[in-house]
Amino acid sequence: MPTDASLTALCTQSAPALTPKKKKHCMFCGGALSRRFVEGRDRLYCESCSSPLYENPVPASCVVVVDEEERLLLVKRNVPPKEGMWCLPGGFMELHESPEEAAIRELREEAGVCGRIETLLGVTTNPNPDYGTVLLMGFLVRHWTGVPVAGDDADDARFFPLGELPEVAFQSHRHFIRNYLLTRNAHAAG
Ligand SMILES: [Zn+2]
Repeated sequence: MPTDASLTALCTQSAPALTPKKKKHCMFCGGALSRRFVEGRDRLYCESCSSPLYENPVPASCVVVVDEEERLLLVKRNVPPKEGMWCLPGGFMELHESPEEAAIRELREEAGVCGRIETLLGVTTNPNPDYGTVLLMGFLVRHWTGVPVAGDDADDARFFPLGELPEVAFQSHRHFIRNYLLTRNAHAAG
């Protein structure tokens, strides 16, 4: 069972906001973008479309995958941000895909594992250098098949005992791992 200290280390800490990559052209008409104060915010504005370009968080899904020894599956990133660090398998949702489908697809692509979603562990946000804010959904997977092998965006994929987790790259991922541990400890206590 993880110690209070290891739970504390996984606690959510507020991260600084990031400004997304600068957009220069309207995605609808290709016109040049300026900035205007619209609807209570300083926003990108397309003069050709005569309308603001609304910017929103980008949704992504990730998975807490545990094995029968209750070890946790992590992948080692080989792409920015946080290249070289370990994190949960996951990635951005594609159009016309559900959060669950995105989670299962990313698990297969990054770690070569076919899994089944058991439950939602939480929803949170993470600052991102490209998009400003990523909206993260974390799911628990306890039923899966296959042998972990590094795939897209990963150099390694393997299970770690809960007491021996490496530093996890993202605050949101630590949040989901912590939620899993809290749920599991609550069940054990009950
Ligand atoms: Zn436009």
